[in-house]
Amino acid sequence: MDTIFSNTKDAFSIKTDFELLRAHFLFKIIQNKFLVKIGALIINIALKFHLPIIPIVKLTVFDHFCGGVSEKDCNSIIKKMYNKNVCSVLDFSTEGFKNEIEFDKCLNKKLSIIDFIKDRKDIPFAVFKPTCLGREVLFKKISSNQKLELKEVEEWKRIKNRFNDVCSKAFQNNVKILIDAEEVSVQKAIDDLALKMMIRFNKKKAIVYNTIQMYRWDRIDYINNILSKNSDIILGFKLVRGAYMEKEREISNTLKIKSPICNDKASTDLNFNLAIDLVFKNLDRISFVCGSHNEFSILKILNMMSEKNIKKNDDKIWFGQLYGMSDNISFNLGIKGYNIFKILPYGPVRNLIPYLIRRAEENTSVRGQTGRELQLILDERKRRRLEKN
Ligand SMILES: Cc1cc2nc3c(=O)[nH]c(=O)nc-3n(C[C@H](O)[C@H](O)[C@H](O)COP(=O)(O)OP(=O)(O)OC[C@H]3O[C@@H](n4cnc5c(N)ncnc54)[C@H](O)[C@@H]3O)c2cc1C
Repeated sequence: MDTIFSNTKDAFSIKTDFELLRAHFLFKIIQNKFLVKIGALIINIALKFHLPIIPIVKLTVFDHFCGGVSEKDCNSIIKKMYNKNVCSVLDFSTEGFKNEIEFDKCLNKKLSIIDFIKDRKDIPFAVFKPTCLGREVLFKKISSNQKLELKEVEEWKRIKNRFNDVCSKAFQNNVKILIDAEEVSVQKAIDDLALKMMIRFNKKKAIVYNTIQMYRWDRIDYINNILSKNSDIILGFKLVRGAYMEKEREISNTLKIKSPICNDKASTDLNFNLAIDLVFKNLDRISFVCGSHNEFSILKILNMMSEKNIKKNDDKIWFGQLYGMSDNISFNLGIKGYNIFKILPYGPVRNLIPYLIRRAEENTSVRGQTGRELQLILDERKRRRLEKN
C-alpha cells in the first residue's frame, strides 16, 4: 500500500547511514523468534554473572530504542526530532521499583521531569507508569475489592497522595500528563484513580490522560460509561491496543477464566476503530492521543480529521509512537504538520534491559509490523545508495 507513510527519505531523515545499518541488523534479528529468545537469555545470564554486556547493549539495542542515560543525554535527539516537527515524551525507566523509599524516589523523579519540561513545546506531555508509585499487590487488592490490612490502608493512602502530587504538579505547570495502562489485574484501581484526577484537574482542558487498551473487549462499554457520567470535565484518553496480551492469556488459561482480551486481532482492530468513532462523536468532551504504529488506524483518524475540518495541529488530537519504531509514521506526520511525539525511554542501561527485551519480543509477535519496518529500512538504504551514485 502506497501512502504518505511510504516516504522513506523524510522518515529516516535524522538517521545516519550507520544508524540505518544498525536498525537493519536489529530488525533482522528481531524478526527471528529463536534469536530473540537466545539473545534475551544471554543478556540475562551475562547480567547475573556480572559479565561486561552493558557496553554491547548500549551500542546496539539501547541506542536504537532509547534516548540516553540522562535527560541531558536525550537533548540532542529531542532537538533533531523537533527540527522535523516531531516532539518527544521523556519516559524515565522505573522498572522494578519495590519499596517505599524507591516509590518516593520515583515520585521525585517524575516531579523533576515536569519541572524540566514545563514551557517546552518540544516535550508536550509527561508520563508515568502507575505501579512505579506503589506496590503492585495493593493495586491488585483494590482492583479485586479485597480488604486491605491496616498498614496497607496507610500504604494505599500514600499511593493516592503520590498520584495526586504528580497530577497536581502537572496541572500547576500546565503540562499534560499520560497515565500508562498495565495488566488487567491492577487496572481497575488505576482507572478509578485516573478518573478522580481527571475530575480534579480536567475542568477546563485535558491535563490528565488515562490509557485505554482496546484489546480488552469490555472497553467500549467502559468509555460509554465514563461518558454517561462526567459531562462537566474534558476527558483525556490515550487509546492503545494493549501490550500484555500474551501474559493476560496465560493468566486466564491458568485460572481457567474468560480472557479479558478480544478473541483475535481483527476483533481488537474493530474495537480500536469503534473507540476512534466514539471519540470523534464526542470531541467536544474528549482530547485524545492515538498510541499506535498501525498505519490503517492513523489513516482513519487523518481522514476523519479532514472530513470534520479539524486543524492538523489541534491540541485535542495527538499521535504517539515509540522511539526506534515506525519513523515512517512519525516523521511523515510531523512534516505534514500533525501533532506527533515519540516516547523516548531513558535511564541507566541496566534498568532499561527489560523494556528492550519487551520491545524485541513484541516486534517478534507482530511479524507483519517488523517486516514493514525492515522493508522501509531496506528501501531507504537503497535510495541513499542510488542518490550517491
Ligand atoms: C505512544 C504509545 C504508548 C503506549 N502506551 C501503552 C500503555 O500505556 N499500555 C499498554 O498496554 N500498551 C501501550 N502501548 C503499546 C500498545 O498497546 C501496543 O502494544 C503496540 O503499540 C502495538 O499495537 P499497534 O496499534 O501499534 O499495532 P498493531 O500491530 O496493529 O497491533 C498489535 C497489537 O494488536 C493486539 N493483538 C495482536 N494479536 C492479537 C490477537 N491474536 N488477538 C487480540 N489482539 C491482538 C495486541 O494488542 C498487539 O500489541 C503504547 C504504544 C505507543 C505507541
